[in-house]
Amino acid sequence: MTTLVRPLTPEEVVALVNDWGTSPRQVGDRSGRPQPTSSYPRTAPAVATAVADRIHAVFAATEPAEQARLVTAMLDEAAPRVLMTVADGRAVAAWSVSAPGDSLLAAAALALCEHLTAHPHRLGVCADRQCADVYVDASPAGRRRFCSLTCQNRARVAAFRERRRTAGDS
Ligand SMILES: [Zn+2]
Repeated sequence: MTTLVRPLTPEEVVALVNDWGTSPRQVGDRSGRPQPTSSYPRTAPAVATAVADRIHAVFAATEPAEQARLVTAMLDEAAPRVLMTVADGRAVAAWSVSAPGDSLLAAAALALCEHLTAHPHRLGVCADRQCADVYVDASPAGRRRFCSLTCQNRARVAAFRERRRTAGDS
């Protein structure tokens, strides 16, 4: 038996991690919020969180070798296979897994593999101290450090207060 797997989009990867990941929920204080419905509705919450935590580690890794090792471990475990199927009367390539429970891990691993290959150094974790959300850096310069403008502004205000406090001490 095979289950077809659709690789996630980068936006879906980010949403999965920030909605279900342990550290985004704890650091961002989202623990009280209801869990969202993911694009894989039949996935158990525990599985979504486990996959989200593994993806978070890839975003947090700064070395390409570490990212490659983590994604390879995900691919090894989910073991997606390429096959051919028919869509709109045409033969197309598709991915499948043997165990339906591995489909989310496979979908995430395939997405990370593709994105890291095409866009190295573009994944990150928010630099704000009160946030552990991840982001995909699509800025032209590639210097993004925060998940959102909210976090960027909060960090800026905190840095300003810190400077003023230090200046007042001296
Ligand atoms: Zn943030």
